[in-house]
Amino acid sequence: MNRLRSTDIKFLKGIGPQRAKLLEKELGIKTFRDLLYHFPTHYIDRSTIYRIRDFSTAGEMPMVQVKGRFVTFTEQGEGAKRRLIGLFSDGSGLMEAVWFNSISKIRKAYQTGTEYVVFGKPSWFNNRWSMTHPEVDSEASAASAPEKRGVYPLTTGLRQKGVTSRSFATWSRTIVESRQMESLTDTIPESITARLHLMPLREALINIHFPRSGAELERARLRLKFEELFFLQLNINRYARRRKTASGGIAMPRVGQYFNGFYTRVLPFPLTEAQKRVVREIHADMKSGRQMNRLLQGDVGSGKTLVALLCMLIALDNGKQAALMAPTEILATQHFETLSEWSNALGINVKLLTGSTPAKQREVIHSQLADGSLHILVGTHALLEDPVRFRNLGLAVIDEQHRFGVAQRARLWKKNTIAPPHVLVMTATPIPRTLAMTVYGDLDVSVIDELPPGRKPIVTKLRYDTQRFQVYQGIGRQLRQGRQIYIVYPLISENEKLDLRSLEEGYEQIREVFRDYKVAFVHGRMKPAEKDWQMQLFASGQAQILVATTVIEVGVNVPNATTMVIENAERFGLSQLHQLRGRVGRGEGQSFCILMTKQKIARDTRKRLELMTETTDGFVIAEADMKMRGPGDIEGTMQSGMPFDLKIANLAQDGQIIQLARDTAIDLLDHDPELSTPTGQRLSTELARLAERTTDWSRIS
Ligand code: ADP
Ligand code: MG
Repeated sequence: MNRLRSTDIKFLKGIGPQRAKLLEKELGIKTFRDLLYHFPTHYIDRSTIYRIRDFSTAGEMPMVQVKGRFVTFTEQGEGAKRRLIGLFSDGSGLMEAVWFNSISKIRKAYQTGTEYVVFGKPSWFNNRWSMTHPEVDSEASAASAPEKRGVYPLTTGLRQKGVTSRSFATWSRTIVESRQMESLTDTIPESITARLHLMPLREALINIHFPRSGAELERARLRLKFEELFFLQLNINRYARRRKTASGGIAMPRVGQYFNGFYTRVLPFPLTEAQKRVVREIHADMKSGRQMNRLLQGDVGSGKTLVALLCMLIALDNGKQAALMAPTEILATQHFETLSEWSNALGINVKLLTGSTPAKQREVIHSQLADGSLHILVGTHALLEDPVRFRNLGLAVIDEQHRFGVAQRARLWKKNTIAPPHVLVMTATPIPRTLAMTVYGDLDVSVIDELPPGRKPIVTKLRYDTQRFQVYQGIGRQLRQGRQIYIVYPLISENEKLDLRSLEEGYEQIREVFRDYKVAFVHGRMKPAEKDWQMQLFASGQAQILVATTVIEVGVNVPNATTMVIENAERFGLSQLHQLRGRVGRGEGQSFCILMTKQKIARDTRKRLELMTETTDGFVIAEADMKMRGPGDIEGTMQSGMPFDLKIANLAQDGQIIQLARDTAIDLLDHDPELSTPTGQRLSTELARLAERTTDWSRIS
């Protein structure tokens, strides 16, 4: 593998320095190996030729090929809008092939009247079908093409510079036939590939790009998926093993005055059975003498904060300090207020540390942490900053795990002068079991599977832009009953300016329509102080409506807010919608969630949104989300917890391979726990290399 890894992509025939820069910028591809691991996402059969008449506007069209002739070529537009349009007929219908770049080259290359096979993604626009920058093959070269042709993922940036799926095929072909390919060594020990009848790596890499047949392609895919999952499992299980064998956890056997005082005198309501069970599970860990690493999963509103507090009180009862870390300043503040309110009567010293804590206050916190007089520290990432040192941190609680990576968890341990603290990670993202095993294999899991009594299920409706008037009437009724309203807009990083504009327009419109009410306004690009001020207006009830981006996604708690309107709901994943919806339904009143979309949405999208109207069960939604779209959404939120990306394995669909990879990894570690044999060392090196690079998958379109 060495020469593939060490050869710069600019030396590949047909690439050169400029393209190399582009490939690195767009996809992080720097070496021959990187390019070789840029796999096709799907394949089209040469034998399948679509008919233009059969193109369908229900849902997005896939990449297809059609066979026919160009009727005319015309140039239209000026400057950046200049384009070449080839009118193409296959006898069943007409479509336009459109090129914005290399116009004169293309005019020379293709003639009217000659038969071509044209390959691309049809879209319906201005009452006609068109393909932008399609690939065009002469009849003869199409006929000699392999049975299956790979379709490579591209970014907009690549497309604009004329890089096509076929460019990748050509480059991959050159690499596969290069001398560098000869240096490729298998990454998985032969004992394993032989036992599992896995295709050797070199063959798999050739077949993934240029499958000899459908069967060979399947074997290649299996081999490459196994490889990814095997290394993932090896990594997770290596850590899990280390943790379990390491002694030196802080034993916390006592349940004393803090816990009991709170339970009998302060706690305003009985715990749910699920909360009681989970507290028992956690306490069993805390007194075991081993270090706890536990994931606490509970749907939004299930009362995780209270569980966290109870566990922190146990730490206090054992003479230790506790910390609670949240992903945003708003959440940290809210936790701080809740905890202060609950624990003041018990003489517990709670403090808040965030990026905006003034220097004076910081000094007080630092010194109280060091002398042990500060019991509970609540905060953001600021807790990880260097001057923060605990005298005896016994329990660290991390809220909404997916914003924190494994590495950050590890940094918390070093904040201590004594042994590593117990760690409790709380998340509302419902993670199906196979996924939890893959991603959090080094954590034990507790689940709160019950909501506090008296909650009315949220009523969710799907509404179109054309029904906006009725939606506003509904909002009006809620407002007159003294309720508060959230209105949420999506924010897509690619075009922040445009998003911000639609958000601002929405805000102006709402102010216009609901003139008698005060409207708060929050988005991610505001200064933290301004954001907090606006949030506070809403949380305190001074503002009745909050127009916001997804900054309110996690954790915010305003029980009087009974309606959530989600604009452009089709742009959100199911799990994200579920998180957002969890902001309402927290008080006595009946709550509503209105999913707004334009009238024309793809069938799959409609199905997704309809599911939201049918269930409020987070696990059902997460499972459905995985089935419909793959683990994308959930995986996305958890990427930070993963040591490296998966390029080909699919956590939702490859359950069996996950299991096999896991068994294989565990078996290997049983024989070589420290990866110290020569084989083990090679695996360990490969793991380190994998962790070096991650790709920004959000850019693939
Ligand atoms: P989440 O799990 O989403 O973080 P919270 O901890 O914010 O949920 O709790 C949601 C609300 O439910 C809070 O107002 C909290 O005080 C309340 N709550 C928690 N546990 C109970 C309970 N056992 N009975 C009634 N209300 C509860
Ligand atoms: Mg919470």
